Amino acid sequence: MNIQTFTGTVVNREMLTDDVLFLSMTVPETFSFKAGQFITIKITRERVTRLKSYSLFNPPSRKGKLDFCIKIIESGFASEVFKKTKVGDTFELKGPFGHFVFDENNGLQEHWFLGAGTGVAPLYSMIEEYVRIFPQQKFVLLFGVREQKNLFYNREFMALMKKHHNFSYVPVLSREQWSGKKGHVQDHLPQDVSGKTFYICGLKELVLETKELLMKRGVSSDCIKSERYD
Ligand SMILES: Cc1cc2nc3c(=O)[nH]c(=O)nc-3n(C[C@H](O)[C@H](O)[C@H](O)COP(=O)(O)OP(=O)(O)OC[C@H]3O[C@@H](n4cnc5c(N)ncnc54)[C@H](O)[C@@H]3O)c2cc1C
Repeated sequence: MNIQTFTGTVVNREMLTDDVLFLSMTVPETFSFKAGQFITIKITRERVTRLKSYSLFNPPSRKGKLDFCIKIIESGFASEVFKKTKVGDTFELKGPFGHFVFDENNGLQEHWFLGAGTGVAPLYSMIEEYVRIFPQQKFVLLFGVREQKNLFYNREFMALMKKHHNFSYVPVLSREQWSGKKGHVQDHLPQDVSGKTFYICGLKELVLETKELLMKRGVSSDCIKSERYD
């Protein structure tokens, strides 16, 4: 894929939870990417400019518009800018970047996706794209957050599960008692790991712990793909 620099114009902005912002930007129709990749957004604040990376949330088959879900971190450099972002604002974007993409050719029939918080963004893009393309293959998403109120896109994931019988959505809460899955998201990985690929996205600790656990269970490194947000 060609790396391009282009302008994104904000066309939608909403808080999905207390601290997760959904941003949608129109971009040139010619921009293309693979599900799972990210772009950089040039952020200028008080005359300081930094490039910040964000995963593309929408599937690549939808052209001309990019969606992002961004965790707002108190006093974070980019977060403070995104807090004030309005419809009509423009940003300089560059990409696509990254090798965290779906392996279409390994012949395996079951794919497990594990994400925490906004780490679910590239996973959603991959699932939306490939669940239709490979209806005979099984896709499972383990989505870890603290409490029910943090489960953004819950309705969309439920709808996707209804629409595609080869997709299972498993939300996992670490800080609230409920009737669903509880504890660490990685505790819900399958014991039998044969014939499966694993895609992990989130902060360092989650990614490293999950990879170690999978490798201990015998998964080879070429069946584990990961993206770290820090
Ligand atoms: C390839 C890649 C893709 C990414 N995609 C996304 C994405 O889709 N959505 C998204 O929200 N972020 C994503 N990130 C993280 C993002 O680039 C920024 O690091 C994040 O938005 C914080 O930036 P900031 O300038 O607001 O805070 P900063 O001023 O850079 O950081 C403030 C502090 O918060 C910590 N921190 C960073 N991220 C988190 C987090 N998620 N939870 C808790 N603490 C954190 C940092 O370690 C730092 O100590 C991605 C990072 C990479 C490398």
